[in-house]
Amino acid sequence: MNAGMNTKESGGSVFPSKWEIIIGGYDSIKDMTASILVVEDEPSLQETLVYNLEKEGFTVRSETNGLEAITTARSLKPDLVILDVMLPGIDGFEVCRILRQEMNMPILMLTARAEEIDRVVGLEVGADDYLTKPFSMRELLARVRAQLRRSRVIQEELEKLKQVPSDIAIEKITFENLEINLTRRDVSLDGNVINLKPKEYELLLFFAQHHRQMLSREFILERVWGWDYIGDSRTVDVHVRWLRLKIEKDPANPVRLVTVRGGGYRFEG
Ligand code: CA
Repeated sequence: MNAGMNTKESGGSVFPSKWEIIIGGYDSIKDMTASILVVEDEPSLQETLVYNLEKEGFTVRSETNGLEAITTARSLKPDLVILDVMLPGIDGFEVCRILRQEMNMPILMLTARAEEIDRVVGLEVGADDYLTKPFSMRELLARVRAQLRRSRVIQEELEKLKQVPSDIAIEKITFENLEINLTRRDVSLDGNVINLKPKEYELLLFFAQHHRQMLSREFILERVWGWDYIGDSRTVDVHVRWLRLKIEKDPANPVRLVTVRGGGYRFEG
């Protein structure tokens, strides 16, 4: 509806659901040549990964340590990164965090221990998916294809947005003293720009685009965080709370961003 509105980055903490991945529909990927960077320091696993991915027609580069992985990712700009958590030098968490700030390609992490999963799934790292060792190659390939498919869909959506003629592009949305500037991607209250985190901005913009509509936590989660985000709807509550602190006169008694009984929120403007 709104030209030039890109409410969702293709990166960020967007997770695929395990259950969605297993379902077919891989055919569209067959005609797609994708480059994959494999970062794994165990020689046998690295070899197996490279062998299997190349057999599937992917162009594969591999690295065994974190710093080189970052350098290679920057120059190669791979379509997907498979990243082990435990690496010599800087670990996979750090590599993921750095890559995520710069690039949007899907990152699939390989974890060896259950306790690593919390961090991988957490907002701080921003991986797109993970596999716990040991895993089957079949499973890995399914995840890779699912991520590439998802990433391609997002790219296509972004392309469509770019094609919207600029003369109908909306530059700002205003609700009384609250102004969302889509060009600058900032929000001001009484003319003063307020400090919003990127996700808070996206969330507010999403609410603005659905002015006065009741939005369920699940719907918000799906549209703002990604349709297959693994986290739960408390993520939405937390961000709503933060937004209220910034845009409500009395955050304890919100009038702009109200809670709707039965599980959702409505933006009153
Ligand atoms: Ca390792």
